[in-house]
Amino acid sequence: MSAPLLAQKPKEAAGNSDLPNVHTLKNDKIEAKITNYGGIVMSLMVPDRTGKMGDIVLGFDDPEHYIRGNPSYFGALIGRYGNRIGHAKFTLEGKEYTLAKNDGDNTLHGGNKGFNQKFWTPKDDQNKLTLTYVSPDMEEGFPGTLTATVTYSLLPSGLRIEYMAKTDKATVVNLTNHSYFNLAGQGNGDVLNHEIMINADRFTPVDQGLIPTGVLQPVAGTPFDFRQAHKIGERINANDQQLKYAKGYDHNWVLNRTGAGMSLAAHVTEPTSGRVMEVWTQEPGVQFYTGNFLDGKITGKGGKKYPFRGALCLETQHFPDSPNKPAFPSTELKPGQTYRTATEYRFSTK
Ligand code: BGC
Repeated sequence: MSAPLLAQKPKEAAGNSDLPNVHTLKNDKIEAKITNYGGIVMSLMVPDRTGKMGDIVLGFDDPEHYIRGNPSYFGALIGRYGNRIGHAKFTLEGKEYTLAKNDGDNTLHGGNKGFNQKFWTPKDDQNKLTLTYVSPDMEEGFPGTLTATVTYSLLPSGLRIEYMAKTDKATVVNLTNHSYFNLAGQGNGDVLNHEIMINADRFTPVDQGLIPTGVLQPVAGTPFDFRQAHKIGERINANDQQLKYAKGYDHNWVLNRTGAGMSLAAHVTEPTSGRVMEVWTQEPGVQFYTGNFLDGKITGKGGKKYPFRGALCLETQHFPDSPNKPAFPSTELKPGQTYRTATEYRFSTK
């Protein structure tokens, strides 16, 4: 006799379970392991210039480790609002909403228990992983039931992330992924030798709490000018108030774009491995963060310690604190509208 159908139901179909499962997307140029807990990219293997595969993202070996604690948001999906909201509040349609202060006086990455700490319902379909999470009305103080769907899929040599969301009340939304890249291989020193180009003429300078002042400042003549590639370490310790506030780079660049499609945000090269990563996105901004809050205390995959500036994040996004900055591109989502955006991490070597 066969077992009752219910008992055979795969874990994937069981909804928001309380045990993480791990999904592998793989072709001959890239392999990604992603867990439905936090939608976390646990590993990303890509070849170096000799063809040797290496894992280029920080994280933990055991998916349950992320449940015990992932304070740096390694690899995670971030929501409802990636980055900061000043003074942990915003007003929408005449109503003030109060959020958790989990970063000084501000809200960071969706509050105390953001999308990075939720079980998503996975659907695995031939190198395409779709994750769904339904965030209840007023979760972490945000209005509206928000149904979010994120799809990870493989490109011939890259990873594509598509984000979609719908709401039943006016709300704000800003989803991103918080992977920490080290193209020399995860746990392999700091990223100061990586060279980066950021396709942006302007950035959003911040106050001491890393909240944008509202100004769109030209990068010309500053250590924020990456229109031509520079080594990350070249100017990171310059005598510059913005760099001091953030202990390095931890700022939003205003991307140069034409139209609403995919546009190049950044190009990163690591000279020893020859690995190259391009970030393409439909978003108006990217947070370039150089792991300034890593301090060597976290032990990650393979027992590697993650040093100060041991990775870089390129979090494609709407600008921080947009709900309080009417001049910034809007992050509002209304019932009947669909939030849709996509980002691609494309890999090659040189
Ligand atoms: C922020 C950093 C923060 C980090 C947390 C980044 O997106 O910009 O300030 O420390 O996330 O891991």
